[in-house]
Amino acid sequence: MKWIFGISNFLIGTCLASHACVIIERLGKEDFIFSRSKCTNCNQQLCLLDEIPLISYLILKGRCRYCKIHIPCEYFLTEFLGGFAFYKIDFSSIHDICTAIVLFSLLLAAISDYQVQEFDITLVLPALVISLQHIMNNFYRISTTDLIEFLPIFLFFLFETVRKKCGSGDLIVYLILSFYFNSKFANLTFLTASIALLIVFLGSKMSKKEPVAFIPFIYIGLIIQLLCK
Ligand SMILES: [Zn+2]
Repeated sequence: MKWIFGISNFLIGTCLASHACVIIERLGKEDFIFSRSKCTNCNQQLCLLDEIPLISYLILKGRCRYCKIHIPCEYFLTEFLGGFAFYKIDFSSIHDICTAIVLFSLLLAAISDYQVQEFDITLVLPALVISLQHIMNNFYRISTTDLIEFLPIFLFFLFETVRKKCGSGDLIVYLILSFYFNSKFANLTFLTASIALLIVFLGSKMSKKEPVAFIPFIYIGLIIQLLCK
């Protein structure tokens, strides 16, 4: 029966990821809760059939039903990754609902970072509050091993952020992951993210001078670590 939960969670995840894209698209511009989605090119209001995560993209072959403009495949990819991000969440448990909020906040940050190479701190504020609350409740459980695993990477990111070699966003996400999960989990997530970035970097013609959005890679690393847990 476990696979039925897996599939329903995957579907919930694709819907959440689809809505995350809408939130980032409309942030500061229009209401993203009650108003219906529109095509950003022809402004035509989308019908329910155009908004089914993954399926609509496949049926419409990645184009708007009305003006036929090409819809970036990143939308499809985000929904697909979202499905896996929430795959193991038990929506009947308070702890897992908190995990889902952390994952959703980080997904918003990843999408924003991908689009504009930065994210508003308010997007990760729920994750930050939940992770701080979590570390305070479990402060007595922090071991020397945890500190040994945490401090070098934390100081490295702090140093690189001060030198402006990497954005403060990476440091914030590292703190959220360390506080909410643990330092080992955060380190493995960042290691997986770095490997994914390296693979993409070697496989594409990305320029060394181009700023790279690292949060989407952290998100991929996070999904892999969550699935391996
Ligand atoms: Zn259109």
